Amino acid sequence: MPKSNRPKVDRKARMKMAPVPTPERPPEERVRDFDEILVLYSMEEAVLEASRCLQCPTAPCQKACPIHNDIPAALWLLEQGDVVGAAEVYRRTSTLPEICGMLCPQTFCQDACVLNKAGKPINTRRLETFINAARVEQDGEPLPEKAPPSGKKVAVIGSGPAGLTVAELLTIAGHEVVVFERHPRPGGLLLYGIPNFKLDKKRVERKIAWLEALGVEFRCGVDVGKAITFEQLLADYDAIFLGMGAHRPVVPRIPGVELKGVHLALEFLSRANLPFEILPPEWQEEKPFGPRIHVLGGGDTAMDCIRTAVRLPGVTEATCYYRRSEAEMPAHAEDYRHALEEGGRFVWQASPVRFLGDEQGRLKAIVYQRMELGEPDESGRRRPVPIPGSEFTVEVDDVVLALGFRPDPSALEQIPGLELERWGSPKVESQETGRTSVPGLFAAGDLVRGASLVAPAVADARKVAQAMDAYLRGEG
Ligand SMILES: Cc1cc2nc3c(=O)[nH]c(=O)nc-3n(C[C@H](O)[C@H](O)[C@H](O)COP(=O)(O)OP(=O)(O)OC[C@H]3O[C@@H](n4cnc5c(N)ncnc54)[C@H](O)[C@@H]3O)c2cc1C
Repeated sequence: MPKSNRPKVDRKARMKMAPVPTPERPPEERVRDFDEILVLYSMEEAVLEASRCLQCPTAPCQKACPIHNDIPAALWLLEQGDVVGAAEVYRRTSTLPEICGMLCPQTFCQDACVLNKAGKPINTRRLETFINAARVEQDGEPLPEKAPPSGKKVAVIGSGPAGLTVAELLTIAGHEVVVFERHPRPGGLLLYGIPNFKLDKKRVERKIAWLEALGVEFRCGVDVGKAITFEQLLADYDAIFLGMGAHRPVVPRIPGVELKGVHLALEFLSRANLPFEILPPEWQEEKPFGPRIHVLGGGDTAMDCIRTAVRLPGVTEATCYYRRSEAEMPAHAEDYRHALEEGGRFVWQASPVRFLGDEQGRLKAIVYQRMELGEPDESGRRRPVPIPGSEFTVEVDDVVLALGFRPDPSALEQIPGLELERWGSPKVESQETGRTSVPGLFAAGDLVRGASLVAPAVADARKVAQAMDAYLRGEG
């Protein structure tokens, strides 16, 4: 809805309305399973919450949304009971609204709501999920009309939010799209990373089934660069999209890192959250966890690991060790709150110096060193400085490394003429076009940005899909 056409509402009356509480399952109940912790609004609750929207002409929520969903327009339609119309508003700008509504941090649309100044922002994220899930129940989300076949073939490498977005938009634009995914199922980190208690995998499965019905072909278990070469794909397809994410873990260079019981975050999260049969073969080895788990790191992945650890049967103690203080921790406030509520423990300003093993090569303890905080570094946060002589040892059964991810350049290095950035991403003309140095080869998502979030990946991929469509039609 253009901003001049926003409906006139009684803003004063609306400002006085109380927020409809965000339903969350109580911590003592939710730690007993891996089910989503959010209870979706009922239709009545959703309409009531939507009817608090002030219909601001400048729509700060829309500006703050990386995809620029016209949130006030959608909420107005919901108020009128038009769930399908409201969902269509999101679908004009977003390929994954139901999923973004579950996963976006509060810091985008919700914090930007003018009612946030009074501490009661509209619950824009859960309304987005409600609208789009309710719409599927109402009309099944019919497939959109596709443009006539262009005769062009596109290979999409990686089936995360970026790859799914490009696949959807280019299929609708009339191109034939094949998605190559190295894992057994499509979904990227939505499946092999993000825990079930944040996102029920049924939401991902529904989206994949919808895309298949639209005509997208998924070829899973195909590691491009190993099972098939990039040269082959460049010869067989008119354009290629690289949406391979950033999965190379940051691993500390300290003694004992090779011990049994030292786990990488994505494998740990996938093994705990997914059925055995859909795990990649290399993760199918039985690795029982002991009762005491440490998680290293202070970002959202560390919070997901701690929250997963507290849910594992037999685990009695799950502790996160972070080298800076609570104030510097990069995790979003909501994820941290959830981790605390669920019994995760935190030790600040401590960094591991070595992992100690037993005779069988299994982790038995970690030696940490205390840190003090020095001057701010290039990240703007105070630099952790080791305190000499402050080492201490803690007995533990398992440790999960959640210290960050980088793009993996190893497959990309095989592509003749592809220029890479120092940190391993393909060089792109801009995030608007995603054009790489190889004609017909485009990239977006975490692979280009570095580890980020779902909404920016979708936003970038939408623009890149447009650039690819223009290229395929000989217009760009
Ligand atoms: C634990 C965790 C929790 C997160 N939680 C949130 C959250 O709550 N909210 C949020 O907004 N974001 C969250 N994120 C970030 C979000 O998941 C990513 O920003 C997003 O998935 C990036 O999308 P993408 O499509 O670029 O990459 P990905 O989702 O990483 O998908 C890339 C895909 O490419 C595949 N691939 C890679 N190389 C090859 C190859 N050679 N051949 C074939 N396939 C290949 C990979 O297997 C993968 O499936 C989280 C990330 C992690 C790790």
